[in-house]
This record gives sequence, C-alpha cells and structure tokens, in this order.
Amino acid sequence: MVQSFATRKTCMIEKRTFEILRVSGMPVTDDELLGDLHRLASSSGKGTVGLLEYGRSGRYNESTMVRRFGSWNKALIAAGLAVSNEVNISDERLFENILVLWQHNGRQPRRAELSKPPSAISQGPYKRRFRSWYVALKEFVEYANGGDAVVPLRQSKSNTPAIKQTGRDPSLRLRWKVLQRDRFTCCACGASPALAPGVDLHVDHIKSWSKGGQTVAENLQTLCARCNRGRSDE
Ligand SMILES: [Zn+2]
Repeated sequence: MVQSFATRKTCMIEKRTFEILRVSGMPVTDDELLGDLHRLASSSGKGTVGLLEYGRSGRYNESTMVRRFGSWNKALIAAGLAVSNEVNISDERLFENILVLWQHNGRQPRRAELSKPPSAISQGPYKRRFRSWYVALKEFVEYANGGDAVVPLRQSKSNTPAIKQTGRDPSLRLRWKVLQRDRFTCCACGASPALAPGVDLHVDHIKSWSKGGQTVAENLQTLCARCNRGRSDE
C-alpha cells in the first residue's frame, strides 16, 4: 500500500514528539533521578543498580547522580535501594592506579599527575569511565572505604585444629585503610612524600607473614623504603 507524503510526514512528527521527554537544558529534579534508579532496579529485579549498568541503560548521566547525591551509593541510599558493590576489572585497575598515586604523593592526586610516572593509566580511560576526575576520586574513596578490607581466609590443610591464615598481599581496601590511619607517613621515622617528594611508602607486616603474622590492619604499618629495608636486613 502506498502512503501519501503527507501521512508519512505526520507519522514522523508524531514519533519525534513522542520521543522528546524533556526540553534540553531543563534541570532534572531529584525525584526524576531517584525515579529512574527505581525503574532500573525493579526492571532488573535486583533491587539495586550499579553505576556501569546505569551508564548503559539509565535515562540521565550517571555523573549527574554522583554530583547531586555525593556518590553513587549515596544516590542508591536516597532512593531506598540496596547499595551496589558492582566493580569490574577495569574499575579495579583504575582505582589501583589512583591508590598508587595517592601513596606516591602522600595526598590526593591531581589529574595532571596521571600523565607521569608512577601512573600507569592516562587521563583518557578515567574520563571515559567517570566523565571527570572529581567523580573518579569520589568513586575511588567510596569503593576504598566500603566493603570488607580483610583478605580472604585460607584454610590450613594440616590435621591440627584448623588455623586460618590470611592471604599475604593486602587488598586495595586494606592498604588504603592502613595508609589513611598512618596519615601517609612512615611509622618508624615520620617521613612523608607530601613533605619530602621521593619518599617511597610501603605497607608492611609488623609480624611477618611467613612467621604467621596476619594480613589485618592491626598487623600492618606504613614504612618508608629506607626503614622497610632496614627491617628486612634484620
Ligand atoms: Zn621511615
């Protein structure tokens, strides 16, 4: 059946009118943002929605959510939804690199510092993933402060009563917890990269792991490379 030009034109206009949901530039209300979180949380049946997932299927920009509510998880809390722990491998790499820079500088890293060593990731991936450095730092802190910092336990294989031994390498969350607690300064000599650039901080076991020391915050301390070397020579 041949449609007339006039009919087709009307259809197109109607379709376009129907698709326009808001005038561009019109501010989004908190209710609209929270309503969209609810929409996705209930359509997936998970009762929550991750930042990545929202970026794919959300109606608004995920960085608008973060700016409006302070962080992704705070937006979920404001919506009365469960906090999401969604993090993928590339997020972990991006966060790990932020921690490397934070540790290297003894303070919150600046965006320009992404383009020089020891940063292993340039500005591009952060911009694509988080839209802005501000959002990247917010999400890093939210992630690093969240969840369980303890390294998964390993069960002893011997016949003696089970001795639980933590893994050797502290997780990102655990290193962050220890470095924050010690204010990014060496526990032995007080050196800090924030005051003396070039000071290299490490998170060290107080009772060494090989001698049964656990990888928990109480058995970890921040040491500069010099003091750390001194200890391993003992
Ligand atoms: Zn030291």
